[in-house]
Amino acid sequence: MIAHVTFSHQENQYISDHINQGKGWACTDTEFVALKSKIKDHYIRVQSNRCCYCYHYYASNHHAIWDIEHILYKEGYSRFLLEPKNLAASCKECNQFKHQTDVLVPVSRSFTRLPRSSARYKIVHPIFDVYLDHIDVQDLGGGKYLLCPKTKKGSETFTICNLFRFHLIYGGYSGLLNTQRDKLLRIAEDLKDTLGENSEHLKTIVRIAFAIR
Ligand SMILES: [Zn+2]
Repeated sequence: MIAHVTFSHQENQYISDHINQGKGWACTDTEFVALKSKIKDHYIRVQSNRCCYCYHYYASNHHAIWDIEHILYKEGYSRFLLEPKNLAASCKECNQFKHQTDVLVPVSRSFTRLPRSSARYKIVHPIFDVYLDHIDVQDLGGGKYLLCPKTKKGSETFTICNLFRFHLIYGGYSGLLNTQRDKLLRIAEDLKDTLGENSEHLKTIVRIAFAIR
């Protein structure tokens, strides 16, 4: 649960005009570029340089390392393009894996205010949820973490952001072909459905998945 960015009266006025004019995220206006820079700086700082989805620490504030993450994706929910509670900082990979996944439950576009209840989001919401309530973090040292879901939200985040990738990388399986990775994930998903959402069971599942080459 992190503090969202705040905007001045002048910035809010600019944002309102930007949205109404449908200028979009790729706009290169000086004011817009400055606003994006402020947003990124804010979330990197309040998240203590940790990605909002994979918990990994990135020892750099350089903007090329980070993406501004739109929890409700910007192409589908353009009116929340600059809504502070729809923003966070994520690593490039998590953002790419999540891409245009709709994480609202139930999916709906017929609202004008951003849903503010944790229950409306399929994944761990950086502002409405506490990450460690939903995902178990095993510190391997050296900046390496293994993530394991504790709840349904944790499980959805694990799948949507492909947090399984760290198990493969740190387990020495990063050379697996995509088809082999997909097969492992399918086995883990099948087992998860059989065993339920219990954290201990899921840890076992990951271990089982590793044992299968
Ligand atoms: Zn990440």
